Amino acid sequence: MSARVYNRVALIGLGLIASSMAHAMRWKGLAGEIVGHAKSAESRETALEIGICDRVCDTAAEAVAGADLVVLAVPVGAMGAIAAEIAPHLAPGATVTDVGSVKQAVIEAVAPHMPAHAHFIPGHPLAGTEHSGPRSGFATLFVNRWWLLTPQDGADPQAVDRLTRLCQGMGANVETMDAQHHDLVLAVTSHTPHLIAYTMVGVADHLRRVTESEIIKYSAAGFRDFTRIAASDPVMWRDVFLTNKDATLDILGRFTEELFVLQRAIRMGDGALLHDYFTRTRAIRRGIIEAGQDTAAPDFGRGAPPVPKA
Ligand code: NAP
Repeated sequence: MSARVYNRVALIGLGLIASSMAHAMRWKGLAGEIVGHAKSAESRETALEIGICDRVCDTAAEAVAGADLVVLAVPVGAMGAIAAEIAPHLAPGATVTDVGSVKQAVIEAVAPHMPAHAHFIPGHPLAGTEHSGPRSGFATLFVNRWWLLTPQDGADPQAVDRLTRLCQGMGANVETMDAQHHDLVLAVTSHTPHLIAYTMVGVADHLRRVTESEIIKYSAAGFRDFTRIAASDPVMWRDVFLTNKDATLDILGRFTEELFVLQRAIRMGDGALLHDYFTRTRAIRRGIIEAGQDTAAPDFGRGAPPVPKA
């Protein structure tokens, strides 16, 4: 039996997420033709060269013609203008989804442009790396990761079901939720942690001017992990904070309160409070590993460097 879910998929944006989708769809035979569009000719040419697209188009409008699935895989701030451009060119019955990290702002930007004959089903794969561009994608990115769909009231159940099958086919676990709830959950689990990582690396950068190269030279696990997160794409993350403003500010306020609690405990020498706090957070880490969302291998599975030959 054919695994094909869509006959023609149009990928608008050809970066990490879109190229990983293309690899995964090819791997599992989920799509007939894959057509792509990215802003730069360089990304379009790369997509052809590495084979993630069968065809590329100079405009998003051309790329979506005749597609039964359109995926908006561009930074959140670019979604509205692209929706306006493609709207008159969508095929009857086409599904339009997006992979943006924020959902309410994308819905506000995209939904008003969608014609009645298309189904708009917003989505967000909880999978990624700090790399970007068409060459950064890989087929297993979504395996055992969550793919959250936030369909609006009245969304066509068959269209939601079909998109769910595609995401599951790429190895993801699919759940549907309300867009506002999505944005709050992601502010806790992803957006605020990224902001904290950016800040910590920024602090170290200021210090570096005092201590010269020591920060890099003696970079230990904690700081190194922050730098990985803080290497994420600046455009994508600028847009995330500009568009998930309320939830991020809410969680940042709570974070600051907790920080003051720990700061006070350190000043007062309250070892019991620190110990209790760290015991609770350790249990959360254990829960994430038990849920299969990370590895328990020491040093995040980086492994020790090879022993030099005698
Ligand atoms: P990426 O690797 O930086 O790729 C973004 C792509 O969008 C590039 O191909 C870029 O074209 C294209 N693009 C930007 N503006 C455009 C425009 N106006 N018209 C057409 N193409 C445009 O980004 P990504 O990591 O795949 O992220 C894409 C989306 O997925 C974002 O909304 C992000 O929030 C979401 N997301 C990201 C992650 C993650 O960890 N990275 C995880 C989940 C969801 P050029 O190559 O020509 O510049």
